[in-house]
Amino acid sequence: MGTDFRASEKVMSEYPQTHLYIGGIWRDGSKERLSIVNPASDEVIGTVANAGRDDLDEALATAATGFTAWSRISAFERAKLLHKAAQSLRDRVETIATIMTLEQGKPVAESKTETLAAADMIDWFAEEARRAYGRVVPSRSVNVRQVVVKEPVGPVAAFSPWNFPLNQAVRKVAAGLAAGCSVILKGPEETPASCAELVRAFADANLPAGALNLVFGIPADISNHLIPHPVIRKVSFTGSTSVGKQLAALAGAYMKRVTMELGGHAPAIVFDDADVDLAVRILAGAKFRNAGQVCVAPTRFLIQEKIYARFLDCFVKAAEAVKVGNGLDSGTTMGPLANGRRLEAMDLLVTDAVSRGGKVATGAKRIGNRGNFYKPTVLTDVPLSALVLNEEPFGPIAVVSSFSTYDAAITEANRLPYGLAAYAYTTSGKTSAALSRDVQSGMISINHHGLALPEVPFGGIKDSGYGSEGGTEAMDNFFNIKLVTEAI
Ligand code: NAD
Repeated sequence: MGTDFRASEKVMSEYPQTHLYIGGIWRDGSKERLSIVNPASDEVIGTVANAGRDDLDEALATAATGFTAWSRISAFERAKLLHKAAQSLRDRVETIATIMTLEQGKPVAESKTETLAAADMIDWFAEEARRAYGRVVPSRSVNVRQVVVKEPVGPVAAFSPWNFPLNQAVRKVAAGLAAGCSVILKGPEETPASCAELVRAFADANLPAGALNLVFGIPADISNHLIPHPVIRKVSFTGSTSVGKQLAALAGAYMKRVTMELGGHAPAIVFDDADVDLAVRILAGAKFRNAGQVCVAPTRFLIQEKIYARFLDCFVKAAEAVKVGNGLDSGTTMGPLANGRRLEAMDLLVTDAVSRGGKVATGAKRIGNRGNFYKPTVLTDVPLSALVLNEEPFGPIAVVSSFSTYDAAITEANRLPYGLAAYAYTTSGKTSAALSRDVQSGMISINHHGLALPEVPFGGIKDSGYGSEGGTEAMDNFFNIKLVTEAI
């Protein structure tokens, strides 16, 4: 596979120590720092500050005063500041991308794309800040004026994961700040430094102290402290369904507004009439991007009988063409898995599938014994009882099955409690219209991969969560609605 560890050694010195950011100051936490491991080499490359209760209390206090200050700045000025933060990311894209690849493993081209996409996200929400219109409601009396206004909900506790260290965080931070909220962001402890660079972009743009705070530590200690606290008015979490359910229950007990972006198990349905080459190219790209550690990654490949053999053959070739290696090496198209837990999960899912009669069409093996490298994997003949067809694999495993009728495909697509993304390929307008009605998911992308742009909603239904992290809907999650009715 040609992994060049020297590449990571060369840039190790570029990996920064990560601090907390509280009240406009970068500082250490009161607990012992946590180690960061490069998933391509297993080497410790740095440490991250670890917040104690005292640090969290300071973050809460400064988020309260920061909210007062920030929410009173006009939307026009807030937008200008957000645009500056976006530019700061663009100006530093090379540095940030290297940091992200060192700690998360993804190919540096993907890290650059993620950084630039985060800048676009900030720009879009900056503009939306200026369009947070209210409404005038015609009244029952000529002497009454009724106005509906949007007000920022208050300080937000935001929890973002390690798979997209910038892009999961920026959706919460940019939309929240654009709406006039202050934010305490709990970043990902395993990939903290690139996430901290996002916060640095806002610091560079002179965001008022306390409007954005960054903490790291023991996730459960932080959520248990922040969510019930009266200062926090909204909770936004991206991560697994099991943790999401715990946090939503806690937030519910304290009547906090919630957005949950949780796991998925996306079906990709390819009909006999589809452009098979197009479907293989786009779906293989979507499957193996970020080593499959993507909540919207296609996992259940449902292929109509007539084209099943051809699709499988082409898809296996596409999987075998993926160049696995150190994300810093040019030519690498898939890096290591981000942590050892994912490697163990892949082994468990494959062993379980094979023990139930599943067949390995390609991959299904760790590569080497240093770093978390795993072969792009395609499984067939997997029974519905297998773990991999029920739990989110969050890794480079595709399960390819065949179906005969439209109804059979829909039944399988909707079988799981997840409902995040879905994909379909067909040249029939009728089938496509029916799919967009019948598939139970928050997003469906037909004949292309069109998810996750700033201007479109991003979110799931059922166990995949609720609330949106894109489009105007994302801003609405950070507003209270107030009616002002006045006799004049
Ligand atoms: P995990 O379920 O323990 O953690 C998932 C995320 O939630 C991590 O970022 C973690 O820091 C955070 N977290 C965990 N417990 C928390 C708590 N009590 N309070 C606040 N945050 C908490 O496991 P993991 O090994 O990190 O990830 C495994 C699974 O999580 C994956 O298989 C995938 O299903 C899911 N995941 C989903 C996304 C996504 O984009 N939706 C991102 C990362 C992980």
